[in-house]
Amino acid sequence: MLVSWGLRTTTFINNSLVLIGYALLFNWLQNTNSLTGRWRHWREPALIGMTIGFVVLFHFSSVLAMAAQNNPVGYGWTYLNFQGATLLYALLSSRRRHVFLTMIIVVSLWYWWLPHVSMSLPLDAWTIVMMYLATKFGVKIGTYWWIYYPFAYVYMAPFFIANWRSLNGIDVGWPWQFVTLTLILWFLWETHYRFKARRTHEAHLLSEARIDDLTGLRNFRVFDADLHTAFDRLQDHNELYALYTFDIDHFKRVNDTYGHVVGNTVLQAVAKRLREVVAQFDYPVRTYRTGGEEFSFLLLDVVEDFDKASAYSTAVQKALSDLTFTTDRGDQFHITVSIGQDRSIHEDRNYLDIYKRADKYLYNSKNHGRNAITIHGITISKPNAASPN
Ligand code: GH3
Ligand code: MG
Ligand code: MG
Repeated sequence: MLVSWGLRTTTFINNSLVLIGYALLFNWLQNTNSLTGRWRHWREPALIGMTIGFVVLFHFSSVLAMAAQNNPVGYGWTYLNFQGATLLYALLSSRRRHVFLTMIIVVSLWYWWLPHVSMSLPLDAWTIVMMYLATKFGVKIGTYWWIYYPFAYVYMAPFFIANWRSLNGIDVGWPWQFVTLTLILWFLWETHYRFKARRTHEAHLLSEARIDDLTGLRNFRVFDADLHTAFDRLQDHNELYALYTFDIDHFKRVNDTYGHVVGNTVLQAVAKRLREVVAQFDYPVRTYRTGGEEFSFLLLDVVEDFDKASAYSTAVQKALSDLTFTTDRGDQFHITVSIGQDRSIHEDRNYLDIYKRADKYLYNSKNHGRNAITIHGITISKPNAASPN
C-alpha cells in the first residue's frame, strides 16, 4: 500500500517536472528571436515534433508501467492527464493551424488504438471540437482562469470516458485523478503566465526605449536603426527610399515668449498633425522626432519623383503652418517649418549619408529665410514672411 502510494506520488512528481520542462521548451522555441534565416521555417515543425515526442514519451511510460506492474489501474490514468495537458498546452499557446491539424491525427490514433470503445467516434469528435476551440480562442481561454479550468475539464472528459470504457468501468481512484489533473493544469497556467507577464514587460521596456515620451513618435535610436535597415534593403533589393527632415523655425522664440509648457504642446500638436498628413501618402511611412524641435519621416519603397516629393513637402509645410495655437492668456500664434528632403542614391557608402544631405538641405531652407523646402538640393519654396510672433 505504502509502496503503491509512494510510486504513484513519485511518478506524478517526475512527470510534472517533465511536463514543465516541455512547457518551458515549447515557450522558448515559440518566442525565441535567435532562429534566423531558414532556421525560422523549422520552428513550427519543431513545435509539432516535440509535442508529439512528449505525448509518445508519456504513452510508452504508461504502457510500460502497466506491463511492469501487471496493473492497468492508476498509473496509466496519471499519464493520461499528462498527455491531455501536453496537447492542450500546445494548442492554447501556439494557436497554429498545423499544430491543430497534427493533433487531430494524434488523438484520433489514440482513440482508434484503445480497445473496446464503442463510442470512440463521437468522443473523438468531442475532442476535436474542444481542440478547435482551444486554437481559435486560445487568448481568451488563457487569460481568464475561470474559463481555463472549466474548459480544460470539458476537454479532458472524453479522454476519461473513453479510457474508462475501454477498461470496462474499473475504479481508478477518481479523487486522485481529479486532484492531479487540477495540479497539472495549475502548473501549466503558472508557466504560461510567468512567460506572458515577462514578455509583456519586455515589450513595454522595448517600446519605452523606442518611443519619444512627449510626442509618441519614434525616437532617434529607432530612426538610426531604420535608416540602416533601409540602406541594407537598397543594397540587397534595390528598394529606394526618401528622407524628409524638418525643423520648427524660431522655436526658441515660442519658448521665450509663451514658456516651455506651451512649447511642449506645440511639439505634440506638430507630431499629431504630421502623423495625420503622412498617413495620406502613397508609400509606407515612418515618423520620428529626431531632435528637440526637429522631426523626420522616411518613405519606403518609393520611385524617384520630384513632383511628388515637392507635393508631400508642401502638404506637410501647409498642414503645420495652418495650426493655430492659443495660449491661456488668449494669445494666438502660428509656426512655420524648414524642410530638407533627399532620396537614397546608389553612390551612398554609409547609411547616414542620406541624413547628412537632408540635414544640409534643411539648412539651405533656413538660409533662404526659413519656411522653405529644399528637395535634392533645389529650394522650391520661398519664405512668405510668416513668423511665430
Ligand atoms: P531656427 O529657426 O534656426 O531653428 O531657430 P530655433 O529657435 O528654432 O532654433 P534653436 O536651435 O536656437 O532653438 C531650439 C529650441 O528648441 C531651444 C530649445 O529650448 C527648444 N526645445 C528643444 N526641445 C524642447 C522641448 O522638448 N520642449 C520645449 N518646450 N522646447 C524644446
Ligand atoms: Mg528650430
Ligand atoms: Mg533645431
